[in-house]
Amino acid sequence: MSRKGQVAAVVGANWGDEGKGKITDVLASGFDYVVRFQGGNNAGHTVINEYGKFALHLVPSGAFHKGVTNVLGPGVAVNVSALLAEIDSLVSRGVPRPRVVVSDRAEVVAPYHILFDELEEKRLGARSFGSTRSGIAPFYADKYLKLGIQVADLFDRERLRGRVAAALEAKNVLLKHLYGVEPLDAGAVVETLAAEGRRIEPLVCDTVALLKRALAQGQRILLEGQLGTLRDPDHGIYPFPTSSSPLAGFASVGAGVPPYEITRIVAVTKAYSSCVGAGPFVTELFGDEAETLREKGGSAGEYGATTGRPRRVGWFDAVATRYGAAVQGATELAITNLDVLGYLDKIPICTRYEVDCVATDRFPLPLALDRAKPVFEMMPGWKNDISAARRWDDLPRAAKAYVERVEELVGVPVRHISTGPSREQMIDRGVRHGLCGR
Ligand code: GDP
Repeated sequence: MSRKGQVAAVVGANWGDEGKGKITDVLASGFDYVVRFQGGNNAGHTVINEYGKFALHLVPSGAFHKGVTNVLGPGVAVNVSALLAEIDSLVSRGVPRPRVVVSDRAEVVAPYHILFDELEEKRLGARSFGSTRSGIAPFYADKYLKLGIQVADLFDRERLRGRVAAALEAKNVLLKHLYGVEPLDAGAVVETLAAEGRRIEPLVCDTVALLKRALAQGQRILLEGQLGTLRDPDHGIYPFPTSSSPLAGFASVGAGVPPYEITRIVAVTKAYSSCVGAGPFVTELFGDEAETLREKGGSAGEYGATTGRPRRVGWFDAVATRYGAAVQGATELAITNLDVLGYLDKIPICTRYEVDCVATDRFPLPLALDRAKPVFEMMPGWKNDISAARRWDDLPRAAKAYVERVEELVGVPVRHISTGPSREQMIDRGVRHGLCGR
């Protein structure tokens, strides 16, 4: 077994958009590999550093560190054109070309996945799930229907023809009879995918073997999750999850590293709550209160990095976050956006729910969440700009008390506290918690 802390995971404790991109960018300097293990280009990770402000969708957030190899593991939904365009756009903005490799076992998002995502959301109308229409749900549906196309298949024309034919058989019936549109021509789809294969071939390798070698050589690997616990298909708010597991436990599968190697799990949470997309959200705010928090939140306001959609916002939800961190198996918490709360006299924290007049501190099953009401306690605000704080003792007493209360309620030590969107706006309490050298 390798030394402790060699493989770490940065994952979301909530609905996603917790600031994992920023935390990954900060931590990446201490790692040799940054690995995406699930999801596709359906969500964005915002990173602000010396090169500017970026919304990464498929490229791992280690892209800005010269010594880091960025890996798209077998569990990722690879949209070839989107990936290559994203790399090119980084380079065109002055970022040294990142080292990116793609698993030969990962599967590709085909044009028809995006088409089906759009058609289905349109068909559902008001009942739609708020998909980003990047083809991710149809992609994972195909994967588990055994109708997917692996990256390696793109290089074998016969195999590719067979895979596309199998995938289109039922799809063309649906296109014609359910959605009322023209069926797809298998030959044209094969040509498109084969052309994408030629473009991505230089990046493709056996990433599982690569990471195995890296571990044997004592190198360090950081696994970067997309979205958060509450979007997990098994443990999240069903039927509003994403289509792949954003859990550190799944990172072992989606990246291809032994589970026992993941010894550090950083669960990221905002100092308040935010959520893009549909589904229950117990501490949600509406009206002016929501608008003010949204406006104060994040450098560009609380608008999704991929979709530009306004995020739903609410107060910190300790019930959801405790559950989210526990399911992740968090060994430490990172709190982002603490600076955003500096305008408030008093800051509500949701410590419990009431479901049908019964108080509970357990996160309820999805079927009961719509009936859950938040119970708040009030923390004093600090009414101060803390964006220049770099050390724990730079924080006002009330801000420290807020962090400590979150730590107590969630039951996991808070190591990193982010006080602004830029890389350097970070407090590391590693020494205080005896978490250094990890
Ligand atoms: P991710 O998907 O988890 O990487 O999160 P996103 O990038 O989608 O959303 C996080 C948002 O918060 C982005 O707009 C970040 O620039 C911003 N952000 C991250 N940390 C901080 C922070 O400490 N303070 C402020 N004001 N913004 C932050």
